[in-house]
Amino acid sequence: MTAIHYKVEKEIPVLAETDVLVVGGGPGGLGAAVMAARQGVKVILAERYGCMGGMASFGEVTPFMPNHVDNATLDRPVFAEWCRKLWEYLPEKDCMAKPFDEKIVPCTKISKDAAMLAMEDLLLEAGVKILYHHTLVDVIKDGNRIEAAVFQSKSGLGAVRAKIYIDSTGDGDLAALSGCRCEFGNEEGFCQPMTTCFKLSGVDRSRMPDHKTINALYNKAKADGEIHCVRENVLCFTTDEEDVIHFNTTRVVKKSGINGQELSEAEIEGRRQLREYLNFLRKRVPGFEQARLHSIAHHIGIRETRRVRGLLYQTADDFLRAAKYEDGVVKASYPIDIHNPSGSGTVIKHLEPNDWYELRYGTLVPEGSDNLLMGCRAVSVDHALHSSSRVMPPVCSIGQAAGMAAALCVRKGCRPAELSGVEVRENLAKAGARL
Ligand SMILES: Cc1cc2nc3c(=O)[nH]c(=O)nc-3n(C[C@H](O)[C@H](O)[C@H](O)COP(=O)(O)OP(=O)(O)OC[C@H]3O[C@@H](n4cnc5c(N)ncnc54)[C@H](O)[C@@H]3O)c2cc1C
Repeated sequence: MTAIHYKVEKEIPVLAETDVLVVGGGPGGLGAAVMAARQGVKVILAERYGCMGGMASFGEVTPFMPNHVDNATLDRPVFAEWCRKLWEYLPEKDCMAKPFDEKIVPCTKISKDAAMLAMEDLLLEAGVKILYHHTLVDVIKDGNRIEAAVFQSKSGLGAVRAKIYIDSTGDGDLAALSGCRCEFGNEEGFCQPMTTCFKLSGVDRSRMPDHKTINALYNKAKADGEIHCVRENVLCFTTDEEDVIHFNTTRVVKKSGINGQELSEAEIEGRRQLREYLNFLRKRVPGFEQARLHSIAHHIGIRETRRVRGLLYQTADDFLRAAKYEDGVVKASYPIDIHNPSGSGTVIKHLEPNDWYELRYGTLVPEGSDNLLMGCRAVSVDHALHSSSRVMPPVCSIGQAAGMAAALCVRKGCRPAELSGVEVRENLAKAGARL
């Protein structure tokens, strides 16, 4: 690629000063901002789009994967409250049919719009100041300290200054811009595939075949050259609406979610596959003859990009040993779940029933930064462990742990690296976490 010299040196306005700045409004950003604000510190959450939710809204991801022990969620309080709010957006008859239980968290199917509204409710109630349509583009640093985060919005460039910054971008954008060391993908350098999620309505569920039959029809269509997708089967889920089926089944491999051009190509490839799926389903699968496009994710689903190296690094070995630590700040029981980064197949490894492993506080503290914490999927773990901790319930808990740590740092005037993980854990437990 050729280069062109382009020098930017500008005075830009300081849009706001705050105790804690959270960048990114996905499940991680929700946990981080709500937990920090509840500790009495000033919190701003900046998000590049005009709504909250991250993958749960514009990525159209559903359901919440189970992260349970003894049939009760490990992710409290913020994730469970998000589920309660979502449930409150259901019609009254559905609420009466399924009473909400804070521990069980039955709300596994997600309406992307309810997820987005419920998140905004929780953030506003906690007193978080929201900055929508602000994309992080740079940081201003003094040594290892971030002095300001620079955003692009319709008003041009502007800075936000904070005592502590939390990276909830999913991709580790803030950490990367700050010069933190990052890992990417598996040993071949490929991340888990991307997927354009979509929903079809007008499906006659009474005539819809079982998964085995759908997969046989799909593999025949592939063999006949009607579908070009490396995925081995059709991954679909029912929703709260009787005639609506959710598809998480396109598979775009060997593209990077942090390369602008490849990301654009991935969007086009994901929707190319979607068109083939639509034709296949209408033509070959009973019950789908009259199916309509109900909704398509506005952003291709990104499972994995950067993982930011922290003071501690955890691997699949912690999963296999179901490792527990006195400074564990997140509990996870979700399996290792690796969609093949370069082709077909999915690797799944389960823990023993009702067992879990723990992520330690040091995996949330990037090396070489004095005032940054990770509050999203991009924590300091290897490719395999990331495939377990990346699902929305534990990510919300990663965020809430970062939020608690940020508030403690503000109160004590210390760096995240100086904080004891045991103290973060104790404070989280006092705030309602299941630790
Ligand atoms: C196809 C697919 C299927 C999945 N299936 C499931 C499932 O069934 N169940 C489940 O529980 N999990 C599932 N997951 C995993 C889960 O959705 C994600 O891992 C999770 O949403 C990660 O949360 P996050 O907060 O780290 O990042 P995200 O959800 O990606 O949120 C990041 C937020 O940061 C914002 N942002 C990013 N960059 C910037 C920037 N530079 N400036 C400002 N804002 C920025 C984004 O707009 C976004 O709102 C799936 C993921 C994918 C891709």
